[in-house]
Amino acid sequence: MILTVTMNPSVDISYPLEKFNLDTVNRVVKVSKTPGGKGLNVTRVLKQLNDEVVATGLIGGALGTDIQKKLLEKGIKNNFFEISGETRNCIAILHEGNQTEILEKGPTITKSESDNFLEHFEKLVKSKEIKIIAISGSLPDGLEINYYSKMIEICEKYKKSVVLDCSGKALLEVLKNEYKPKVIKPNTEELSQLIGKDVSKNPDELKKVLKDKLFEKIEWIIVSLGADGAFAKHNDKFYKVNVPNIKVVNPVGSGDSTVAGITSAIHENASDQDLLRKANVLGMLNAMEKLTGFVNLENYDKLFNEVEILEI
Ligand code: ADP
Repeated sequence: MILTVTMNPSVDISYPLEKFNLDTVNRVVKVSKTPGGKGLNVTRVLKQLNDEVVATGLIGGALGTDIQKKLLEKGIKNNFFEISGETRNCIAILHEGNQTEILEKGPTITKSESDNFLEHFEKLVKSKEIKIIAISGSLPDGLEINYYSKMIEICEKYKKSVVLDCSGKALLEVLKNEYKPKVIKPNTEELSQLIGKDVSKNPDELKKVLKDKLFEKIEWIIVSLGADGAFAKHNDKFYKVNVPNIKVVNPVGSGDSTVAGITSAIHENASDQDLLRKANVLGMLNAMEKLTGFVNLENYDKLFNEVEILEI
């Protein structure tokens, strides 16, 4: 079974409008409200793959209850830790081909909640059923910047692998710490942020960057490159993944879908080639759909065979 972690989930509200009128009333007819946050996108894709998955993280208030209810309705197991703060709303206004987003910051976590979640997390991690943990997204306010390192330390104690998809200071802190995730999946923007200079999609440059001391002891680094596929390092091996042209509908959440593919492939002990294929195919399948964290698996086999993997 796979454990997914979402520390700052949200109820994602989508307001489609023909025209967005500033400084006046906008009436919305078709509203959709879905559980959101990167970790929950990963969870939904894993569920569609028929992988056994349980979601954890922090939730609170009426919106937290709503998330639990909606996940259960979809048959998604979850074991969240309840906090006193309120889970946030994130609003996307879709208008005239644009997407205007209003993102709440979310609750501030207290010291005791921060400590108690680690105990809750340890109980889940040590369960025999859990084989791998996928941690995604940002940390809410109140948690120390090295919080993911503490979580990874717990996973290491029980010899469980971690796939980590976060960015900025939280990721940098993990890379500097002695407890390492098995996989990280930055895109080039996140990679540039990490090393403090612009990184292009050029494979030779990426190869050089990934040899940096900062990435030592991380078994897999998979840099997702959007329409250019991915560039990956697995121990001493380097791969360039080329993907076919696809009809992109909405690429939001493609990285999360890729993370689901990586986690699922490690869970089933897939070869390097199959892991990279699965990860990229799921990223593509998400980009081909309107919904975030949704994949139509009918096209899976066709795309799987079209992905090209070159060891370089
Ligand atoms: P993130 O959302 O983290 O920035 P990417 O945009 O790199 O992630 O997308 C993740 C994966 O999804 C890519 O590695 C690729 O396999 C697939 N993908 C995303 N956008 C496209 C696209 N326009 N064409 C083909 N594949 C895509």
